[in-house]
Amino acid sequence: MSEIINGKEVAKSLRESLAAQVVELNKRYGCTPNLVVILVGEDPGSVSYVTGKAKAATEIGIRNTTLRYPDTITEKELLDVIAELNANEDIDGILVQLPLPKHIDEDKVIKAIAVEKDVDAFHPENVASLWLKQPGTQPCTPKGIIKLLKTTGVEIAGKEAVVVGRSNIVGLPVAKLLLDNNATVTVAHSRTHNLAEVTRRADILVVAIGRERLVTADMIKPGAVVIDVGVNRDSRTGKLCGDVDYDMAKEVAAYITPVPGGVGPMTIACLMENTVESFIKKVTK
Ligand code: NDP
Repeated sequence: MSEIINGKEVAKSLRESLAAQVVELNKRYGCTPNLVVILVGEDPGSVSYVTGKAKAATEIGIRNTTLRYPDTITEKELLDVIAELNANEDIDGILVQLPLPKHIDEDKVIKAIAVEKDVDAFHPENVASLWLKQPGTQPCTPKGIIKLLKTTGVEIAGKEAVVVGRSNIVGLPVAKLLLDNNATVTVAHSRTHNLAEVTRRADILVVAIGRERLVTADMIKPGAVVIDVGVNRDSRTGKLCGDVDYDMAKEVAAYITPVPGGVGPMTIACLMENTVESFIKKVTK
């Protein structure tokens, strides 16, 4: 029977310490961090993520604005909005909620955000700094996962870590951060032969696939730490669920994150931390 890693609680305590930090920053510099979130279209998932981000920012004392545009906005119009926000010294963080409509080149949009305001850390320069171990902004979900592991007291160094998924926003950067924390890392993906054989080697198993219950209890080494990044709709209940068969896996793992209430809240809390850090870099430069 495993211990549940309460991402909600860890995220709450990070948000509280950020709120206290923002009060101090306001006393010292006479202003607070400022985040702008851009939402294109009406996708319910994106609307809900953006609402969560605005709520967290407000709670911490981060000024925030959500700019909403119809999905008919052209790429040029969106790039012009970003250029204006880049030029505005009062703005510390710019986030474009993904995915964007097909007629807009996401890579171009991400690249257009000023690197020092790129609080999602998807800009190629921030990606490069992660891989080159240079100062830069770390992507929110991977950063949140490492914080969750450390807060739980999980020793990463020397452990066998398996990451299932190799996307640019989750799988690959998580693998890099685990490697930087001296784990021995294997990255598995859709072409991995015998996934179960690979996942059963993991002391730390991070799953970022996007398929409900793909990882079953027999794929988990007894006593492993399981981090479930996936966010899916349970086809049986219609509720949110992860990639791991949680009810069975928790009988085998030593620690496990629930969905919802695991990685998700950490992603938002780390976004807020990145915004505060971006503000601090601006006012101290
Ligand atoms: P992607 O679709 O970009 O990547 C999915 C990865 O899973 C790919 O690398 C793919 O392999 C791999 N994969 C797919 N099917 C299998 C399979 N049968 N066996 C092994 N590997 C497989 O997704 P993301 O990385 O963007 O997101 C993953 C999940 O995490 C989603 O559910 C997403 O909603 C969630 N998410 C949650 C966040 C949070 O804050 N909680 C933040 C971001 C994402 P291949 O490369 O070979 O195609």
